[in-house]
Amino acid sequence: MAKDEVEDLLPDKDAAKEFYAKYEPKEILGRGVSSTVRRCIEKETGVEFAAKIIDISADGDNKTATMEEVRILRLVTGHPYIIQLHDVFESSTFIFLVFELCKNGELFDYLTSVVTLSEKKTRYIMRQLLEALQHVHRNGIVHRDLKPENILLDDSMNIKVTDFGFARVLKPSEKLYELCGTPGYLAPEVLKANMFEDYPGYSHEVDMWACGVIMYTLLVGCPPFWHRKQMVMLRNIMEGKYSFTSPEWADISEEPKDLIQKLLVVDPSQRLTVNDALEHPFFHLMLWDQDIAPLKKSLSSTSRKLSRISQIVMEIKASTFDARKKFKFAILCVLAVIRISRLHFTPEPLAVECGRGDPYRIRTLRKVIDGCAFRVYGHWVKKGEGQNRAALFENLPKTELKHLYMINLSP
Ligand code: ADP
Ligand code: MG
Repeated sequence: MAKDEVEDLLPDKDAAKEFYAKYEPKEILGRGVSSTVRRCIEKETGVEFAAKIIDISADGDNKTATMEEVRILRLVTGHPYIIQLHDVFESSTFIFLVFELCKNGELFDYLTSVVTLSEKKTRYIMRQLLEALQHVHRNGIVHRDLKPENILLDDSMNIKVTDFGFARVLKPSEKLYELCGTPGYLAPEVLKANMFEDYPGYSHEVDMWACGVIMYTLLVGCPPFWHRKQMVMLRNIMEGKYSFTSPEWADISEEPKDLIQKLLVVDPSQRLTVNDALEHPFFHLMLWDQDIAPLKKSLSSTSRKLSRISQIVMEIKASTFDARKKFKFAILCVLAVIRISRLHFTPEPLAVECGRGDPYRIRTLRKVIDGCAFRVYGHWVKKGEGQNRAALFENLPKTELKHLYMINLSP
């Protein structure tokens, strides 16, 4: 072997050696186009991490792309809902990125196991996603590949946005033109920037569109623009053609629908920004769980609830002004109003006739049907036009987008 070749190989060995000296690799957690992610244990501390091992030997561009991913990960580091990069080992054939481990895996897998998320859980996840994105956008970064596969869940079921492989740092008013992302989550302007020579490009707004697609998918378990013919799906995206007609939407209130409608706006200049989205009434609940935790104990049963309220009323009546007690009483009143205003969302009792005729319209039965289908088939089965959960599993890997470059999508 020539001396140069030996010298070329040495740094690889060193980087790999350094990684294996420090970490013990375990099972595979996930695979990407040119990467494998493994659980690993830091030998000195016994702490678990996730190592993304990227093969850069076949494609020189992979190294540049990974180094950009690392640079961006370092720019966004420190946010509670963004993945933490712990260590990096670099050589000319492999790069090892060591991340904090998210034991509960992808939001995608969680969603497919539970079918749909409630409004409350959707609010919890979307708020975290938007807060993470606010941090990303404030740093002038656009993610470009937001989807449930790239949102991980930690031990406490809090989200961690990951995979900054397509992210870019943008100068103010800088635009992008590249076609990249995952088909079902692509914003109309990304497609248009590739179809029309004079299209002015795209920017941060593409992430807000993806948030709209994610939120829709979380609530009803299937994506908004899906069509078995990908060309039709892409045309639906460009026209912003989607609907709230599947049976699940009947049980969902107006606020989340309104937020989705304001995110899935074809004109990026009219779409909500991340700050606008966080201000939306969907997130305006006065009391978060953590705020009312101390009160929860005393509200655990109806009779105790009533006795607690009357007790506080009596205390207020009997005592002179006590701001703390007044505040507690106000909280109880607000809670009662919220509960009463939501009463109309309480499911109707199961009607045998309706259950026989169209069982899928009844939420409880729908959950059972979906759950059984998932357990039997390992994926959702088609139950009629416009409702196909299998769509969630049919997104092409992101590299396959390349062939779309040359395709004319016009009718
Ligand atoms: P790619 O750019 O190849 O898509 P990702 O960074 O998205 O790579 O990782 C691929 C998959 O590996 C993820 O979708 C997830 O399933 C798994 N994964 C990645 N990072 C972690 C992590 N920190 N903890 C647990 N699983 C992870
Ligand atoms: Mg990924």
